[in-house]
Amino acid sequence: MADQPLIPPFGKKVHLEDYDPSFTNGMSKDDAKAREKKLEARMGELQEMLYAQGTQSLLVVLQAMDAGGKDGAIKHVFDAVNPQGVGVTAFKQPTPEELAHDFLWRVHPHVPPKGYIGIFNRSHYEDVLVVRVNQLVPQEVWEKRYEHINAFERLIAERGTRILKFFLHISRDEQKRRFQERLDDPSKQWKFAMGDLPIREQWDDYMKAYEAVLTRCHTEAAPWHVVPANKKWYRDLVITQSIVQALEEMEVRYPDPEPGLESVVIPD
Ligand code: ATP
Ligand code: MG
Repeated sequence: MADQPLIPPFGKKVHLEDYDPSFTNGMSKDDAKAREKKLEARMGELQEMLYAQGTQSLLVVLQAMDAGGKDGAIKHVFDAVNPQGVGVTAFKQPTPEELAHDFLWRVHPHVPPKGYIGIFNRSHYEDVLVVRVNQLVPQEVWEKRYEHINAFERLIAERGTRILKFFLHISRDEQKRRFQERLDDPSKQWKFAMGDLPIREQWDDYMKAYEAVLTRCHTEAAPWHVVPANKKWYRDLVITQSIVQALEEMEVRYPDPEPGLESVVIPD
């Protein structure tokens, strides 16, 4: 397949069959890894400046089908950042208390405060993905959520949080391969859940639900990236690159020192 955009054009319906999950932009694994290492180091520097500056934050949203590589991406992409400046939140099935509130209630407290990077491993998008596919609430309820999500993301973006959303796009065949690997490798068997199989059966419904998300909640303030994720090394490079680029654009800087610092003499 020819060149394909990482960020789909705004205002157009996204068709996932136009996006090749094995796309690597002609790169070799070695080149990609070398490039990613350099970018990781830069991410570490930029994250320190983000923290020191303390005026903005960055939210990274990761969504994928099972075995899509969310955990692997988190592990590799953030290799070089100071753990003190980063928070990871995994959104699982809601508790009864969470279900007794609106769907964004459990999300808002985890939006990164000024100076921090926040990573969402799954997110508020589950409420228009798994919830839509399984009709866990009536359509008139989930239909309204796309707009609620856009308003929520606009709110936090206007207040100084840069938002980057990544859909890790694997093929159905690649999911099968990774599930099989989990079954065959004793050190990976713990990752295999019987419950993942019925979800695999709903693959086409999930792709439709993802297309709706990528089309209806894709804004300049909070853009989606369709990450070709069959090749883990390309997935990690693309995410790392996008985060570094965003932090460069945010113009994170060390703050000015206190006035008079040049004449300070440290007493013996
Ligand atoms: P792992 O890679 O470890 O399996 P995971 O993200 O799949 O990580 P699990 O505990 O296996 O974690 O799965 C979490 C489950 O919770 C997913 O099936 C997801 O769809 C579901 N979930 C998350 N948010 C919601 C929600 N708002 N409503 C219903 N189900 C949800
Ligand atoms: Mg799981």
